Amino acid sequence: MKIVKRSWAEPFKIKVIEHLKMTSKEDRLKAIKEAGYNTFLLKSQDVYIDLLTDSGTNAMSDYQWAGMMLGDEAYAGSKNYYYLEDNVKKYYGFKYLVPTHQGRGAEHLVSQILIKKGDYIPGNMYFTTTRLHQELAGGTFVDVICDEAHNPDDTSPFKGNIDLNKLETLIKEVGPKKIPYVSVAGPVNMAGGQPISMQNIRDVKKLCDSYGVKIWLDATRAVENCYFVKMREKGYEKKTIAEILKEMCSYFEGIWVSAKKDLLVNIGGFMATRNKKVFEETRNLVVVYEGLHTYGGLAGRDLEAMARGIEEMVNFDYLHSRIGQIEYFGNLLLKAKIPIVKPIGGHAVFLNARKFLSHIPQDQFPAQTLCAELYLDSGVRSMERGIVSAGRDKVTGEHKFPKLELVRLTFPRRVYTQAHLDVTFESVAEVYNRRKKIKGLKMIYEPKYLRFFQARFVPIK
Ligand SMILES: *Cc1c(COP(=O)(O)O)cnc(C)c1O
Repeated sequence: MKIVKRSWAEPFKIKVIEHLKMTSKEDRLKAIKEAGYNTFLLKSQDVYIDLLTDSGTNAMSDYQWAGMMLGDEAYAGSKNYYYLEDNVKKYYGFKYLVPTHQGRGAEHLVSQILIKKGDYIPGNMYFTTTRLHQELAGGTFVDVICDEAHNPDDTSPFKGNIDLNKLETLIKEVGPKKIPYVSVAGPVNMAGGQPISMQNIRDVKKLCDSYGVKIWLDATRAVENCYFVKMREKGYEKKTIAEILKEMCSYFEGIWVSAKKDLLVNIGGFMATRNKKVFEETRNLVVVYEGLHTYGGLAGRDLEAMARGIEEMVNFDYLHSRIGQIEYFGNLLLKAKIPIVKPIGGHAVFLNARKFLSHIPQDQFPAQTLCAELYLDSGVRSMERGIVSAGRDKVTGEHKFPKLELVRLTFPRRVYTQAHLDVTFESVAEVYNRRKKIKGLKMIYEPKYLRFFQARFVPIK
């Protein structure tokens, strides 16, 4: 046999396993009814393959678990904090670090410190918790992502890029004094895990410098963005992920991070900056909301696992297998002509529910419906990223009708095998084959904040 293409495989093997419960169709119907047709409200015990999120669902390595035993649980000045501080400096390049219990803890502090009432915060598409904290601090988020990002069929390599014209127009319109910082993220979660190019970051930095506007990075999945830069951007082919990360961060005044993603841990977050004044204010505010500045709501052992996770996340072979797994799954769907967001993203594959269930109007929640149907079919859990996630307009109180109506199948790091992906693909294909018979949902309970987490639905008869 002639081998045409050599495959990749994971640069690790399984040492400990976790048993999964196998469920029947009746079990699943009961469970989803009880959960109000919201996959966030399912008990994880009732889920077979859990692709709800890549947040905190990572498998830690034996090196990280070994580090957990070295937790220094002193209230102040734990040695694990100093190790994390060293690694944040070494890999991200920021001198000052404030840990928080998770990403939104850091978003809260940074937003409260940098944003004044009436400010505008431009960004490359919103993220749910990021935007909410910016709004709670009195700001208004303005989406300045490139138009391509809103088109799921556009195959541009860097759909996370900022549209410089949109950004400059806003700066001129409201004045640079009303813009505390530009909120940059990469890859852009809500656009389908699409990366931002280094060139675009440089251009944004240059434009912002000319107006005296700062730029901050949501570095939650920064190394996954760096992988795409290495694979797709000219001049970066030979650079290591660590080198690319360092360069990327060098353009920003500071970052906030949910360690539950890139850092291969189950809990944690931090902010890091080169601005001493912002650091000092954050270090002060963190004691009000999270805990002392050397633990930020985390145990010493968690800080140790984060510090070790940073060393593992920049490994190219690891990233290649992680993103390769997602590509493998996405390509199965593409071959079957099932509508997904293109190109295939960095942490997830997004089903285009608007096309998948084109007969269901957006106010009957096609993506939410598709999540429930997938669970019913096979016990696979996914997440809505469409009209429910988008929430209501602050002024009119109407639903926001986002262009993208998506179902996210998100891959925990180092957790599932290729066989799990095959099973998931077959389930999506099965639901696709009977899509015409599927009816939408009606919302019967709607919480005030981040409604997608707790909203409840019933099927439309
Ligand atoms: C998860 C996430 C956050 C929030 O972090 P949590 O740890 O969930 O609080 C912020 N930004 C992005 C891009 C994320 O994916």
